[in-house]
Amino acid sequence: IKIKITKIDIPVSFASAFEGEIIRKGDMQVEFDGSRKDCFELVCTKDASEVEDHKFTLIGPDFDQMEVGSKQQIAYIVDVAGKNMQSDFEPVFERKFHSYVNCVEGVMHTGQRDMIRIRISKSTFEAGFRAKDLAEVLYANIKNEFDAVVDKCAVTIVTDEAECTKLRHELAIPAYDRRDERLTSLTDESVPVYYSCIMCQAFSPSHVCVVTPERLGLCGAVSWLDAKATNELDPQGPCQVITKERVIDENLGRYEDVDEAVAKFSQGALEHVTLYSIMEDPMTSCGCFECICGIEPFSNGVIITNREYTGMTPLGMTFGELASMTGGGVQTPGFMGHGKHFISSKKFMKAEGGIERIVWMPKELKEQVAERVNKTAQELYGIENFCDMIGDETIATDPEALLEFLTEKGHPALGMDPMM
Ligand code: SF4
Ligand code: ZN
Repeated sequence: IKIKITKIDIPVSFASAFEGEIIRKGDMQVEFDGSRKDCFELVCTKDASEVEDHKFTLIGPDFDQMEVGSKQQIAYIVDVAGKNMQSDFEPVFERKFHSYVNCVEGVMHTGQRDMIRIRISKSTFEAGFRAKDLAEVLYANIKNEFDAVVDKCAVTIVTDEAECTKLRHELAIPAYDRRDERLTSLTDESVPVYYSCIMCQAFSPSHVCVVTPERLGLCGAVSWLDAKATNELDPQGPCQVITKERVIDENLGRYEDVDEAVAKFSQGALEHVTLYSIMEDPMTSCGCFECICGIEPFSNGVIITNREYTGMTPLGMTFGELASMTGGGVQTPGFMGHGKHFISSKKFMKAEGGIERIVWMPKELKEQVAERVNKTAQELYGIENFCDMIGDETIATDPEALLEFLTEKGHPALGMDPMM
């Protein structure tokens, strides 16, 4: 075991104790908000000749030139080079930024890719924390944690508004799309193994995600390719190979290999997990699921709600209320946390009939996933524009009104077998 020294040269402390720290509006010097401004974080693999190690570049104003309490844009591009580096590792590094930035005293980070939000507290700003310190946190941690593959690393921070917009559209989004594209060509049947992920056991000690090409981790940040890369980077780490040789039930996604793996990685807390059912031994949920689906008994269907939607659902519960009964690493048949991308997967509760069961989603979520969900519904059931049959909060937030809408639309769930 290599002993690693994380002494980072910044004006405030860096420790995992600060990870859960919350910075309230009144205490914040500046906020970078990817939901309102063009923000992103991106790792780019470069040739060694293109990267000057430890170089820092700032494009745009530094934190002391931003109005106190304002919402700004930020992008950071981390160029890495190394002879063992693979572009498949890029999203794995990016996934770690959340924890790196959060470990800085007085800095809060949520989200990933171009949906990040960062707050810097007044006291951390007053201690002298500036853009170059943020870059130093990224640089030092990447070099420390991924020294097996990264020989050189350079960080560019962009705060200039026009430049953030331009780079987000010309550099970041195409890079994310390329990665997603690579994944869509893979199916659960076409790969030789799955992967476990236990990164969330710090918070949910018995939680294990089983990550397959068609079912990403419920946080939405760990795809099968990411889990594979994590395993290659750190063979003793959080993602382990799960073989898939001993099928028990193909339709449920039940395997002896998977059961053995979850029993081992949950220290015996879990014995059986299916990949494709929300009723029979569904996968557990930690706390960081992007979405929750839950059974809606009147329509024979399920509703889905997402973290960003704070309103009511036809189950009479909000996301927060559903989360409190679904999370914590326990199995709750009929309710399950999952990633956004899973909604359009052909494996989404396949055992119960698949996405045809979806009867309600918040409008914004529905719009985000519509194109992919419609494509899946077309391919699986020959239904055109399936999303038009799915209710949302502008149509109904109670089961009676929802049922009326579904009946009017001839929603397929109404004619399916009861789920319970
Ligand atoms: Fe890993 Fe699952 Fe946690 Fe995502 S939610 S980090 S896939 S354990
Ligand atoms: Zn989690």
